[in-house]
Amino acid sequence: MKPYKNKINKIRSFALSLIFIGFIVMYGAIFFREHQWLVILFMTLGVLCILLSTVVYGWIGFLSTRAVVVECPSCQKHTKVLGRVDMCMYCNEPLTLDPALIGKEFDQSYNNKSKTQHQE
Ligand SMILES: [Zn+2]
Repeated sequence: MKPYKNKINKIRSFALSLIFIGFIVMYGAIFFREHQWLVILFMTLGVLCILLSTVVYGWIGFLSTRAVVVECPSCQKHTKVLGRVDMCMYCNEPLTLDPALIGKEFDQSYNNKSKTQHQE
């Protein structure tokens, strides 16, 4: 199994899981019906999770406009690349926008500017 996933897909699944966590936390409030402050606490946490997920979804929308659409050389589908290196959304083929990195081993840290400068 490859450890890396397409960034936009990764953030999207994070936002989706936040919604589920929010609902589970709010559902948990039912078990504390006798303690009103706990119910309020759980409800607030649940709403916060869902609000956060909405923010993350908005952030994805913003990132998508900045991502570069490329045709994947492996599966010929159009995928979005974020940063210098990213994975194909469909087949997890490593893709790069930097010609200097072509043919190199995929490394998420290429997106980290300080490490790249150190290598140069
Ligand atoms: Zn692909």
